[in-house]
Amino acid sequence: MPRIDQLLAAGTTYSFEFFPPQTDAGERKLRNTLNELEPLGPSFVSVTYGAGGSTRERTHRIVVDMLERTTMTPMAHLTAVCHTRDELAAILARYRDAGVQNILALRGDAPQDVHPFWELERAVDLVELAREVGGGSFAVGVAAHPEGHPLSPDLAMDRRHLAAKLRVADFGVTQFFFAVESYLAMVEEVAAHGCDTPIVPGVMPVTNVRQIERFAQLSGAAFPVALADRLHAVEDRPDEVRRIGVEVATELCQRLLDAGAPGLHFYTLNSSTATREIYANLGLPALA
Ligand code: FAD
Repeated sequence: MPRIDQLLAAGTTYSFEFFPPQTDAGERKLRNTLNELEPLGPSFVSVTYGAGGSTRERTHRIVVDMLERTTMTPMAHLTAVCHTRDELAAILARYRDAGVQNILALRGDAPQDVHPFWELERAVDLVELAREVGGGSFAVGVAAHPEGHPLSPDLAMDRRHLAAKLRVADFGVTQFFFAVESYLAMVEEVAAHGCDTPIVPGVMPVTNVRQIERFAQLSGAAFPVALADRLHAVEDRPDEVRRIGVEVATELCQRLLDAGAPGLHFYTLNSSTATREIYANLGLPALA
């Protein structure tokens, strides 16, 4: 199975992100989505982790299923919050033993209704643990926030911490954003700290305006007023919302590729339609 650092060294990557469903119906939907997206030949696919371990088994099962039953290269997300160092080491060892070679190392946010604790306080500590457990077998990615991490009081300081984290990681993947300038500024600012680790931009096509507003609020991503107004005007016509969302995401992807982004990471929300449409608009080749 290829490692993501090797894939990035070989050329532009195209990747899709999924979350572990909680219900049987959700599982069926994810299976259909994977069947529809596999023919696009993504460079890799990733599966999120419920902070606090709420999806510990489901994330593991979906990642290993992808590895064993599909042609796609999986990456497992892992968050440090509410886990001891030993638990995290055990989770990483289980991935290593299953042959999974790509890990996204995250701090994670405090889950609702649980008193949070961090034995590993920062994502950078989890990168180091993954190196230790993997013994060189893992490519390790980290999260990047183009508009700054929402808890960070100071953007310049956030960039310094990001550069330090990226220096020990193999690649970064960003939170979603709408202004290409915020991504380019982030890349330039971490480069000024002597860091040239590739950072793959994350793209979230808007398919539901209320949902994206909620996500933007949680993640600290700015949701441009002009786009919000345009989408609210057609809010009761889901097809029109999706059409605009796909058009805006396509323009963003094209500008990112033109600016030399090392790849595109699509937040699919376990649906295939918007991603397939953007893929087609960009003229990207499918395998079939
Ligand atoms: P860190 O890199 O540890 O940074 C957290 C904060 O600490 C920042 O404000 C940073 O500036 C600050 N900081 C870092 N180093 C230092 C230092 N030395 N001193 C002082 N301050 C410092 N969450 C999930 O629960 N599950 C997922 O699967 C998941 N996947 C994600 C995927 C992507 C691509 C992204 C962008 C985010 C994802 N998240 C996920 C959300 C993530 O867990 C949160 O954004 C979390 O709040 C921060 O995680 P981090 O890994 O960026 O943290």
